[in-house]
Amino acid sequence: MPPLSRLVLLLVLLAAAPGQVQAQVAHLDVDLREAPRRIIHAKLVLPAQPGPLTLLYPKWIPGEHEPSGPIRDFVNLRFTAGSREIPWQRDDEEMFAFHLQVPSGVSEIEATYDVLSGVGEGNFSAGSSVTPNLAILSWNQVVLYPEGVASDDMQIQASGRVAEGWKWATALPIARSTGTTFESERVSLTTLVDSPVLTGRYLKAFPLGRVDGVDHELDVATDDESMLDVPDSIIVHYRRLVREANALFGAHHYRRYHFLLTLSENVDHFGLEHHESSDDRVPERTFVDNSLRVANADLLSHEMTHSWNGKYRRPAGLATPDYEKPMHGSLLWVYEGLTEYYGWVLATRAGLFTPDQARGELARDVAVFSARPGRDWRSLYDTAVAAQILYSSPTAWSTLRRGTDFYDESTLLWLEVDTKIRQLTHGSRSLDDYARTFYGPPSGAPKVIPYTREDVERALNQVAPYDWKSFFVARVDSATVAPPLGGVTASGWKIAYPDSSTEYYDAIETLNEETDLRFSLGMRVASDEGKISDVIPGSPAAKAGLAPEMELVAVNGRAWNDDRLKDAVKRSAKGGALDLLVKNDEFFRDVKIDYKGGARYPELVRIKGSSDVLSKILAPRTSTSPPR
Ligand SMILES: [Zn+2]
Repeated sequence: MPPLSRLVLLLVLLAAAPGQVQAQVAHLDVDLREAPRRIIHAKLVLPAQPGPLTLLYPKWIPGEHEPSGPIRDFVNLRFTAGSREIPWQRDDEEMFAFHLQVPSGVSEIEATYDVLSGVGEGNFSAGSSVTPNLAILSWNQVVLYPEGVASDDMQIQASGRVAEGWKWATALPIARSTGTTFESERVSLTTLVDSPVLTGRYLKAFPLGRVDGVDHELDVATDDESMLDVPDSIIVHYRRLVREANALFGAHHYRRYHFLLTLSENVDHFGLEHHESSDDRVPERTFVDNSLRVANADLLSHEMTHSWNGKYRRPAGLATPDYEKPMHGSLLWVYEGLTEYYGWVLATRAGLFTPDQARGELARDVAVFSARPGRDWRSLYDTAVAAQILYSSPTAWSTLRRGTDFYDESTLLWLEVDTKIRQLTHGSRSLDDYARTFYGPPSGAPKVIPYTREDVERALNQVAPYDWKSFFVARVDSATVAPPLGGVTASGWKIAYPDSSTEYYDAIETLNEETDLRFSLGMRVASDEGKISDVIPGSPAAKAGLAPEMELVAVNGRAWNDDRLKDAVKRSAKGGALDLLVKNDEFFRDVKIDYKGGARYPELVRIKGSSDVLSKILAPRTSTSPPR
């Protein structure tokens, strides 16, 4: 759109006199009744001025850090003004932009379209999001907005209709509702996109308590009604989580908080943060299968932490004015990294992890990043900058390529910051003081305060004066093969590799449906078909010629399965053979692995004579008994 008409439209949207305001509000109506058929219908009425108009489909989705708007699934687009159809044309370069000419005498246009939900191969919310029994509506998928208008400045009123008998839950401010319909208050496009709706045949709300005048709720939707019987012994920890999070930050920046939790095998599994809610998707049996529960124990604590770190305070490069401007991920080691650290800490403080399970996760991080040849060529900083191409990178050769390491490796990084602050202040201050300074009071409604790397260093300096700039240059910007393990040591623990696995390690193997032999043979094998999903360069498996994508057929002359492979690895310590038959494309080959180390699983053990700082970090800050 030429600058002048863009300006006119902006002024129309922004500067309407009070009596005209209502006319300047866009109206979006979404019909979710056919969601189980993977089709969502929508109608958008937009105020408009005669002349050229460019409308954009949201491309860069907040929290997804990549241009993942499901444009391929956005179909059946038609524009009308009154009874007249308005032709449109997609931009030659920007597939997310649609040009049209608003006829003279027209003050609003209507757009109708469908979204083919979750039938593509998209990431995050563009992945599978509907089942015959539930649906998650991400508003960014069903809206268009005028080019040049900031999402904060576009006012919109949204309504929705769900299938007969289905319930719904959302943090979106609701003005009116019936059982199956709802209409929002007038909100900004930012708030709308930040407030997904969870709907389902089987949906139940679990109140998590009022903290500092604000209500918290866990809304669970599932494909199997019996999964709604979540025992209070589990819910009690989520009640503690909201108290622990508020105790940590000392304030909140939401008016209500909803965990929108999906227990289903038929949606993609992930979490996506929002200011006043989170879209959390885990396997259907997460609350009845202890392994799945443990493996997902820190998902909700991670996503809730984002309300402070990521939503309220956001790296300047990710605080974009609309969904078109590319996001810059260079500070994701703070946005995601510190969130990963506090997700882990808060899950333990809330009792979602036992201290043993929490140490199991830390041990795994230590082991994973100690066997990461890719650290030698690629800095943590580069994994953050390249986030948009790393989320969908395959497991094959992951240790060489590195993946979205700014999550898990940053747990080690921020543990080191935490222990460093404790050392520098002789135990009188900790990273919690930084959290309160940077993300804390005053409480209020959602807003965004962007930050730079210098702001983070300055705030840390206020808590404990130190050369934080050099500290991060060494650990974030430099490519070095050694991971940042200073915090583990300073917290009184070190890595060991006994021959039996921890509960946490087992839980992650179950979740990933794999046999993880990374710390013995140096490879991972998918449980179902025996495909080698990853091999660590330089490991015994690599030296024997194994590589990702090969398939394991037999172990020591007998058909492969998880147990036989694990048993053979264990017996190698007593001289047992590791003779494998593998299939590479159409070709079979015998492979002899030269390995006598037996089974090895990462575990943390105490450093004798040191202070157990880790247990202090993970200890609850609030009373563990239920609030009165
Ligand atoms: Zn995150």
